[in-house]
Amino acid sequence: MTESCRERAHFICTSRKVTPDMALEMTDLYWAAGFLEGEGTFTASGTTPVLHCSQVQKYPLEKLQGLFGGKIEWLFHKQGIWRWRLPCAQSAGVMMTLYTLMSPRRKFQIEQALMKFKSSGHRNTKENRVCKNGHAIVGDNVFSSSKGVVCKKCRSDRTQEYHVAWIKKFIHDAAYRESYFSARTGKTCKYGHAITPENTFVSPTCVACALCKREWGRRSAQRKRAKANMLGATL
Ligand SMILES: [Zn+2]
Ligand SMILES: [Zn+2]
Repeated sequence: MTESCRERAHFICTSRKVTPDMALEMTDLYWAAGFLEGEGTFTASGTTPVLHCSQVQKYPLEKLQGLFGGKIEWLFHKQGIWRWRLPCAQSAGVMMTLYTLMSPRRKFQIEQALMKFKSSGHRNTKENRVCKNGHAIVGDNVFSSSKGVVCKKCRSDRTQEYHVAWIKKFIHDAAYRESYFSARTGKTCKYGHAITPENTFVSPTCVACALCKREWGRRSAQRKRAKANMLGATL
């Protein structure tokens, strides 16, 4: 029972996500292996391993969900059938776990599904996303934008590059500088200081309101002094 992407659009998802039972009993594994041997589908969609199982009765699927996690969906286009399915990385994990307990036919299917997954370098799994500059896109290095998840480091590098290029232009291009100030005539920085050439601080890394800049400097010096005092007090 393989599913195409088109068919997949026809289900009503009724389920909540369930965290799997971490301590799997051997008997549970044997039960799952036996059940999925007969009823499961071990396949791959592109390079993504897919493990799912459809049933008229929901109970065995709930048991699978309790053991391995995943979702249970109601497929109304098939006159009412429940389907349990696992996301990519978990599918691969469960396939590997059950491998030794399966029949040669199923073992072959699992090998096929996992071969594509491994040869793809796991690029499609959440856990193994890598940007084109080789940074792992996990944990703190994830930036979610409207276009999806991107590498935070590369993004901030790009922003930095853009910023530096802009400052260069600002410093060296007098016409641009003029248009910049004329577009801001009568406007102020967010703290109410006028944006004028006289009140603009310019360095190779920064273009900012001079009054605000002075204020930042004052505050950061204050913080440093406070920190030094605190360290002095504790020593
Ligand atoms: Zn990157
Ligand atoms: Zn200001």
